Amino acid sequence: MYLPESVIICEQGARDGIQTVPEFIPTAKKIELINALSETGAPFIEVASFVNPRVIPQLRDGREVLAGIVKRPGVKYIGVVPNAEGARRAAEAGCDEIGIFFSASDSHNRHNVNMSTEDSIRGLAGVMDISRDAGIPVYAGIATCFGCPYEGDVPPKRVAWAIESVVKMGAYRVVLGDTTGMANPRQVEELMSFLLQRFPDTPINIHIHDNRGMGLACILAALQVGVTRFDSSVGGLGGSPTPGAMGNVCSEDLVHMLHELGVETGMDLDKLIACARIAGELTGRSTHSHVLKAGKRSDLVRSC
Ligand code: ZN
Repeated sequence: MYLPESVIICEQGARDGIQTVPEFIPTAKKIELINALSETGAPFIEVASFVNPRVIPQLRDGREVLAGIVKRPGVKYIGVVPNAEGARRAAEAGCDEIGIFFSASDSHNRHNVNMSTEDSIRGLAGVMDISRDAGIPVYAGIATCFGCPYEGDVPPKRVAWAIESVVKMGAYRVVLGDTTGMANPRQVEELMSFLLQRFPDTPINIHIHDNRGMGLACILAALQVGVTRFDSSVGGLGGSPTPGAMGNVCSEDLVHMLHELGVETGMDLDKLIACARIAGELTGRSTHSHVLKAGKRSDLVRSC
């Protein structure tokens, strides 16, 4: 089995994860989680969102969160923004990287922001200008790359067109979202082989969701064709609008699998599992973590 030697994980729990939690989580608690995540060795951590606070009240304290965390050298702390005004606020708050979002499929994009994908991409120019002036790199998050809940399959050429458009505008990397957990391993293998060949110089993350239990299988398929950048969320927090349903792939389950496969992540799994415990306390819910419940494979029963 071909596997890369090492991969890069982008931790989503503090942003994509808790944005769907209805009860407001106090700023100090968010800071506690992010500081603990910083100690795991995660090289990228999404920490805040600078959208209209009325749209996502849970993340209205982005500025305070960034002011309160202890930034670990080498870690990139990311804020996501919907427009130029958000980019200005993210830059002022001290984000190391800015994320912008739109959907590869028109129907999903229209459903979310009432405009076509093309118009959304054109509208990103203002974010790019502000980020360039502030010297902050931008990534483009492209939703519905592995399937759209309104349209079904999204043609690979359409995903390639979206990537090409945002890279031309100045995005230095892209994140391909499996927004509602529609990816399957064969499709991931085919789409990612095509895209890695087509965009050899653009870092491509995949942001897989586990709504239907295919999350880690999709990641294994991606590893085998050379994908080395993955998004995941501690405790499997967030990523599904259906209460109680699984959304984001769980970070500690992913890191556990990678380490068992001999793929290096640079992350400390025990510290990550401790973060999953914090995440569960923070949200008052049991997490979707397998490893938190079952323990690591290497945790042998010592009394027998
Ligand atoms: Zn997600």
